[in-house]
Amino acid sequence: MTELNRRTVLAGAIAAGAAATLNPITAIEPAKASTPLQGKQAPGWYRYKVGEIEVTVVTDGARTFPLPDSYVTNVKKEEVSAMLAANFLDPAKLTTSYTPIVVNTGSKLVLIDTGNGPAAAAQPNSTYGQLLLNLAAAGIDLRAIDIVVISHFHWDHVNGLLTADNKLAFPNAEVKVPAVEWKFWTDDGEMSRAPEGRMADLFKNNRRVFDALNRKVTQYDWNKEVAPGIISVATQGHTPGHTSFIVSSGSGKVYVQSDVTHHTALFTRNPNWHVFLDQDVNMAEATRHKVYDMIVAEKLMIQGFHCPFPGVGHLEKAGDGYRFVPAPWNPSV
Ligand SMILES: [Zn+2]
Repeated sequence: MTELNRRTVLAGAIAAGAAATLNPITAIEPAKASTPLQGKQAPGWYRYKVGEIEVTVVTDGARTFPLPDSYVTNVKKEEVSAMLAANFLDPAKLTTSYTPIVVNTGSKLVLIDTGNGPAAAAQPNSTYGQLLLNLAAAGIDLRAIDIVVISHFHWDHVNGLLTADNKLAFPNAEVKVPAVEWKFWTDDGEMSRAPEGRMADLFKNNRRVFDALNRKVTQYDWNKEVAPGIISVATQGHTPGHTSFIVSSGSGKVYVQSDVTHHTALFTRNPNWHVFLDQDVNMAEATRHKVYDMIVAEKLMIQGFHCPFPGVGHLEKAGDGYRFVPAPWNPSV
């Protein structure tokens, strides 16, 4: 072999070796055809300021269920389905979201409503009862909650007062409840007259929850400060003592509506529709108009327990009803 030929052969061998190393087909780990689906959302919380007060919206999750036949008691099911479809939602199903908030007033850490509770979260495939998980994700220690304010005594607002083994979920908190609501649900006569089914079950559930607290609650009246910067407002109809709140600091103000309207796509657009959950349907309807006309007129910010997460936005008039306009996500608090 001449010197030239030997060099050519060597160079060829090196080139072949390099090619073997670099060849994407033979030398690189084959790309994975797919990445496993995660199947989970991020923890749900969102912060904003009201003057000097910091609000943290903490989701308890949401529940999806087939649209019941008489979910709206004064309108045909087909009309309800059509309204869901018009809002780009599944016409055969409802999704109800649950949205408690934590209000840091600067001196007190206040939780308004408690969601469905960890016992609900422990059910197979549960998608709700997640308040405690999301509080932890938001960096809020449940032992640091000073006051829990309850708006009304439905499951999705009071059950989170207890852990899955019926202990106090917020061991250091004073629990404040509307005086009118307390009187109604603890009245033995009212309980004995409650129709079997949902109403009787609600009475039983409220006794279960508040007996576990040894009925250690502070009753509050309307138009009073329940915590610094948080005023209670009567919004009866959904329940006898149903309460909303005005959180204000400086020129900042947000109206925490609780359940003045339930499912936003249905009842904000149609305030005359009666959800079967409203105890006094006519009073609830009158309350919706009164509260929403005031919010529209004053251009108030609104925070809704069953509004789509994070449930903060504004209202405008739209036809015979109103439209909820969500506030844009803001990366700075
Ligand atoms: Zn509710």
